[in-house]
Amino acid sequence: MTPGKSPSLTMLGTGTSMGVPMIGCDCAVCTSTDPHNHRYRSGVLLEAPGGNLLIDTSQELRLQLIRAGVHQLSGVLYTHAHADHIMGLDDLRIFGFRQKGPIPLYCEEVVESAIRRTFSYAFLQSETLHSKPQLEFRRVAAEPLQVCGLNIQPIRLIHGTLPILGYRIGNVAFCTDVSHIPDESWGLLRDLDVLILGAIRHEPHPTHFSVGQALEVIAELRPRKAYLTHISHTLEHTETNRHLPDKVELAYDGLRVML
Ligand SMILES: [Zn+2]
Ligand SMILES: [Zn+2]
Ligand SMILES: [Zn+2]
Repeated sequence: MTPGKSPSLTMLGTGTSMGVPMIGCDCAVCTSTDPHNHRYRSGVLLEAPGGNLLIDTSQELRLQLIRAGVHQLSGVLYTHAHADHIMGLDDLRIFGFRQKGPIPLYCEEVVESAIRRTFSYAFLQSETLHSKPQLEFRRVAAEPLQVCGLNIQPIRLIHGTLPILGYRIGNVAFCTDVSHIPDESWGLLRDLDVLILGAIRHEPHPTHFSVGQALEVIAELRPRKAYLTHISHTLEHTETNRHLPDKVELAYDGLRVML
């Protein structure tokens, strides 16, 4: 973070797992010239007093970090290990060279196992430092984490049948890839200034909230502002916003929220 700048959260990617535009799709959203309809896969940048943090590393991580002008990285928080949330991890190599040390990855054990399997070369002694990202794992549990001067509260969410994590930083919460909020998590989502909540499309989906389901959650939690994210190509930015309730909007790549 530049000295004197306030802590913030920037949406690096607001698209669903296939991204928008989707390969080979000629629909009005995929061919739109409005940049709000161009959605990289899911990602968040936290600019904190003690450095920059990411939530997840999507396939477009390199493009996201160039676009956001990120020069330094102090760690990555993971929500879960689906491809659209981890497959850009190799792009962390540059920070290992520059900063001459491993990048801490904050995650649950199941996510660490998936990363070790998927990126096995990164953990082989035989690989030279130039050919692998330098990483170290830090365990995330139910307790809040203190990282880079931020107090970060993990929040249990359910994604289909998979337990995953959302994160609350101060009065801002980021909850993507969610189809059910367990009883114990509702209390952690009260009194929010901003809730960023996954909502993939209008039609029901087995592992994600629809727009209607997300709006029910928002009506119950009553954050001061809510943004929907992890958006498919079926939701046109301006048209969808026109029909959303007051204080609810679609998120878009580059959206910045103060922490
Ligand atoms: Zn996803
Ligand atoms: Zn399309
Ligand atoms: Zn997922």
